[in-house]
Amino acid sequence: MESALAKQVYDKLLSVYGPQKCFLEHMTPFQLLVATILSAQCTDKRVNMVTRDLFKRWPDAESFANCDRDELEQAIFTCGFYRAKADHILKAAKAIVEHFHGELPDTMEGLLMLPGVGRKTANVVLGDALGKPGFPVDTHVRRLSSLIGLSDSSDPEVIESDICAVMPPETWAQFSHLLIVHGRTRCPANRPNCPGCELAKLCRHTKTGKIKEKKASRTKKPVSKAPATKKTTAKKAASPARPTKNSTSKSRTGS
Ligand code: SF4
Repeated sequence: MESALAKQVYDKLLSVYGPQKCFLEHMTPFQLLVATILSAQCTDKRVNMVTRDLFKRWPDAESFANCDRDELEQAIFTCGFYRAKADHILKAAKAIVEHFHGELPDTMEGLLMLPGVGRKTANVVLGDALGKPGFPVDTHVRRLSSLIGLSDSSDPEVIESDICAVMPPETWAQFSHLLIVHGRTRCPANRPNCPGCELAKLCRHTKTGKIKEKKASRTKKPVSKAPATKKTTAKKAASPARPTKNSTSKSRTGS
């Protein structure tokens, strides 16, 4: 991928939306980890509603590690997939208490050792809570990277590596936020608003669309006009002969 394209897209999005913050409310890196686990297949708005009470009740890894599973499941029920999410939160909290003295590890390798934590979650925590470079690839980032032409892959890990290879580390978390906000507002799945899009001049999707249109108009066959005489002859041949006086009387007499 051309680094120029990524930089132009980043600059344009930053000028349109301004600097973006993490959409998930949290006070500590561990709370952001929990919120990110809850955000799978769930809106940020819903997660924020749930975590406001959740973090009052269980504020840190130790309290989560010792909480009652049924109570936790009940508390996060509205986020969906509550059993799996409770399982991930409990296992991660216990691992943090047992292996990291109750503190969230601050490296990608350390975070990936926690049960239920993948690269996306680890990148969110690194970039938004630990002040380290992190480029989370969620569903919007994945879709927009492909449409715009920031990556030719649909594999989140390859997308992450393609974009991180050409953008300065200090922009990674912000770039991910900007792509997410653009995906939500201007370019939702199945109904991108290309005519009104600020990235239209940069985006591969609109460029290839225009190329296809041009090719189609070049290869369009001219409409051939059939010679008028032939058409007329054919019309005449197809139309039934008007009965003459003689033929009518002939027919009547014959019946
Ligand atoms: S030009 Fe269209 S496809 Fe490209 S980012 Fe904008 S809305 Fe999405």
